[in-house]
Amino acid sequence: MAAQILDGKTMSEEIRREVAERAAALKERGVTPGLAVILVGNDPASEIYVRNKGKGCEETGMLSRTIRMDASASQDELENEIEKLNRDDAIHGILVQLPLPAHLDEQAALAKILPEKDVDGFHMINAGRLMTGTEGVVPCTPKGALYMIRSTGIDLNGREAVVIGRSNIVGKPMAMLLLQQNCTVTVCHSRTKDLASHTRRADILVAAVGKPGFVTADMVKPGAVVIDVGINRVDGKVCGDVDFQAVREVAGWITPVPGGVGKMTIAMLLMNTVDAAERAAGRA
Ligand code: NAD
Repeated sequence: MAAQILDGKTMSEEIRREVAERAAALKERGVTPGLAVILVGNDPASEIYVRNKGKGCEETGMLSRTIRMDASASQDELENEIEKLNRDDAIHGILVQLPLPAHLDEQAALAKILPEKDVDGFHMINAGRLMTGTEGVVPCTPKGALYMIRSTGIDLNGREAVVIGRSNIVGKPMAMLLLQQNCTVTVCHSRTKDLASHTRRADILVAAVGKPGFVTADMVKPGAVVIDVGINRVDGKVCGDVDFQAVREVAGWITPVPGGVGKMTIAMLLMNTVDAAERAAGRA
């Protein structure tokens, strides 16, 4: 039997409705949640992401501000913008759109964002909080992926989870979240030997590699939950890391691309922003 589709569009709409309600409640208290996005240069893919984030804010009743900086901006100029936003009470969430031009130091810039305004969850304080299981801001993509995994209703305790990819923004935080759910977690990467021997044991398989069609049907355990984080472009069309048509015949649940994890990422960014605004309003 073909896998059940985990529909990111429907799930993200539910989250957006909740965010809109919470934003409206804050507005009644005189607080409009605000997200600022810093875009350095004019990478076309980044332009699309930034536009979608702005649209998401408007649709949920939040303030969105885009700070555009020239591709030749210096590290000091970038960090000055971040510091201005740190001091701005109308802004509850700050996001630096990645990747930055090669001459800029990404980690140093992210470290300048106030951890409570770091709605991407990339600041090392938030990474440390996730690592130690204390409350912090969780990165949007793995947070959205976990929401989709939990929507299957399966008991995650003691399940084998395999994450392919070990980036700081997807693979590592995904592994931490699955560990918090009491899964037995294996992280695979480009140096992993005999990858399929790991993936075939996975009750939950998350692919965050960036290679189209990388996960094939023979790598998947029958009935597994398969989460495809990849966003790749082939002949102008967007596709994931999973050979969707073949894997859906083996898996129990699968996320499509497009219409899967990507939709959840923006919804979780909006949720992290309204969370930050509520925390700030609570402190005010
Ligand atoms: P990355 O390039 O930082 O990491 C890729 C990972 O894949 C690395 O850890 C690497 O070790 C691993 N890898 C590469 N080749 C491998 C191989 N042959 N076998 C096993 N592992 C291998 O990428 P990233 O930022 O983590 O993103 C991964 C994918 O997810 C990309 O397609 C990206 O566009 C997409 N992405 C999607 C969203 C979303 O919202 N859906 C968000 C972030 C990233």
